[in-house]
Amino acid sequence: MDENEFSGRTALVTGGSRGIGAAVALRLAAGGADVALTYREDEDSAAAVADKIRGMGRRALAIRADSGDPVALPAAVDRTVAELGRLDILVNNAGRYVTGPVEELDQAEFDRSVAVNVRGPYLASRAAARQLPGGGRIISIGSQVADRTVFPGLTLYALTKSALTGMTKGLARDLGPRGITVNLVLPGPTDTDANPADGPFSETIRGFTALGRYGEPAEIAETVAHVASGAAAYVTGAVIHVDGGFTV
Ligand code: NDP
Repeated sequence: MDENEFSGRTALVTGGSRGIGAAVALRLAAGGADVALTYREDEDSAAAVADKIRGMGRRALAIRADSGDPVALPAAVDRTVAELGRLDILVNNAGRYVTGPVEELDQAEFDRSVAVNVRGPYLASRAAARQLPGGGRIISIGSQVADRTVFPGLTLYALTKSALTGMTKGLARDLGPRGITVNLVLPGPTDTDANPADGPFSETIRGFTALGRYGEPAEIAETVAHVASGAAAYVTGAVIHVDGGFTV
């Protein structure tokens, strides 16, 4: 790995305190980026990731900002620029995973899921679009279940993650003339607190993949880093599966 791949660049990763977001934040920092990360409530985990980034010799900023809050999230984008000097890479990672029978999930849950999974990435991307220079990157984390909804109870989550495909393609057109690329990464089952590889349904979930295993957060982060890099300058509007063959 090139330690200077992202040197001089600044990234903001939403939900960067645990799981996939933490792996992305650390991977970008390992490539030389200064990194801001948001979290919702777990201040200690956010501080631990920020400390690791500082330990790599990069600048770090942990910002409490619920992605469902239409003021806090754009403010986190602006604070990143104010305190770290610029913004080159936005990673829309924070997400709300709620399952249940469609007859039972109420409108408040619909509103909350859409606020976190759809409105949040849109508002963060809009705020970032005002700040990103040429060569900037917007990368969102969707989900494989938007393409292959393997069991009941996923309607709400799948519909919110599907919205990111349209957002990605629209933004790719809007921002392409400025040399900014916009892409969507769809993880498969990935071993995190939200979906542990030893969880109650893990054997079934593992069986849906071609490789017969969960992914590691670092495996998702590697593709995010590639799309964020200069090597992927001609990749935009892409929907990239990193799912162990979940959708084949
Ligand atoms: P985790 O539960 O492991 O981590 C979630 C992270 O997001 C934490 O840092 C958490 O902070 C933060 N977060 C959660 N809700 C909010 C919010 N409303 N506002 C700001 N930050 C928030 O999740 P994963 O790493 O598993 O998931 C990351 C993304 O990947 C999500 O978008 C998810 O939908 C997607 N994904 C995950 C898959 C998997 O199998 N794990 C598969 C496909 C997609 P805090 O600790 O403070 O709450």
